[in-house]
Amino acid sequence: MNKKSIKDVNVKGKKCLVRVDFNVPMKDGVITDETRINGALPTIKYLINEGAKVILCSHMGKPHNVLTEGWGLNKKEKAKLEALPENERESAKAEMMAKAAKDKTKLSLKPVADKLAEKLGQKVTFATDVVGASADEAVKNVKDGEVVLLENTRFEAGEEKRDENLCKKLASYCDIYVNDAFGTAHRSHATTAAIVEYGFVKTAVCGFLIEKELSVMADSLEHPIRPFVAVLGGAKVSDKLNVISNLLEKCDTLIVGGGMAYTFLKAKGYEVGQSLVDNEKIDYCKEMIDKAEKLNKKLLLPIDAVCTKSFPDPIDAPVEIKTFGVDNIPADEMGLDIGEKTRELFADTLKNAKTIIWNGPMGVFENPILAKGTIAVAKALADADATTIIGGGDSAAAVTQLGFADKMTHISTGGGASLELFEGKKLPGIECLNDKN
Ligand code: AMP
Repeated sequence: MNKKSIKDVNVKGKKCLVRVDFNVPMKDGVITDETRINGALPTIKYLINEGAKVILCSHMGKPHNVLTEGWGLNKKEKAKLEALPENERESAKAEMMAKAAKDKTKLSLKPVADKLAEKLGQKVTFATDVVGASADEAVKNVKDGEVVLLENTRFEAGEEKRDENLCKKLASYCDIYVNDAFGTAHRSHATTAAIVEYGFVKTAVCGFLIEKELSVMADSLEHPIRPFVAVLGGAKVSDKLNVISNLLEKCDTLIVGGGMAYTFLKAKGYEVGQSLVDNEKIDYCKEMIDKAEKLNKKLLLPIDAVCTKSFPDPIDAPVEIKTFGVDNIPADEMGLDIGEKTRELFADTLKNAKTIIWNGPMGVFENPILAKGTIAVAKALADADATTIIGGGDSAAAVTQLGFADKMTHISTGGGASLELFEGKKLPGIECLNDKN
């Protein structure tokens, strides 16, 4: 890693503005998964122990857009109102503002401040705004080794718009900017990158979580121990175009399962019945098949499919399944999971791998009857004597739910960010940080 970390700078007595990812799932004001808070703890504890003044900030969810326009109505809202008969406007406006206000309460970081205080065993001062009077006061009074958490940064209209004034104000709160929010490192927002890019903070370093995510994922991509196998699944080819292309160049074998596989199968000339096909991407898949051949890489596709006559509704409803070879899928059936032979084929390949990257389920894993393929891949990774990396999202959830989490080398905290790393993209939240000399 060529970026400076908190260990490379003197933080004692310094005000450190730390961008963390506290975007935790919540239900009725209760945090339902603390993974992201736990992920930020090593950095926070280190800064406390080193005597820094710790000022944390994070976004939470996607506040209603009335909010992100600074509590006024945005263009879309205004247009909606203007299209209504005059006598209906007042009540419609009130409804929009009420929804925004409700979002604001639901998306407050206050419950996170309480949980964090509990985990740290010390007080966490919660500012009820991001750059307002409450934040000013909290930042003015913070002492060495103390912690402040600012309110949801997306309550400020300028966060996603990279507003210069917001960045300037936030920069005035700190001597050092620390980014430890891997989950938003692919975003170029005020608190994730712009504050440094505009030059308002000179000392900008990463925290331990970003350091760990990068050292495992970027290093494995650049210097993998071979054989290196990448497993891609999920719904659509179009979501992962650049990932497929980039990983083909880096890995030795690319395994494609999930809904994506059917566009590849169609590109190879198979009839896939009612299975999910991205018609506009058939040519792209043909290109990828050619590319694999030219690069002398293995591109493994399913050889059989677990099919149903219709998509389960609701998604976890009982379904009647039949397995067909991929050269034999009837016109009225759709493939919703990989079949047993494919499970064996994929598991066999994974057994010999030394580096494995996985993103995306092998089937409609939300339904237990259609989850066998995803479970088989998770198990194969757990059993493999390899560096195993789960790129966040559904595959991370699957691995955790199945109890295999501690058998993996690394489960990324950022689905979107890790996919962009797999695409070979530079992440703005990391690029902006100071280089190591
Ligand atoms: P993604 O967000 O692209 O990783 O896709 C995840 C979604 O893909 C999950 O909700 C799965 O249910 C869905 N999926 C996986 N395999 C299939 C399939 N064969 N047909 C339709 N959807 C699928």
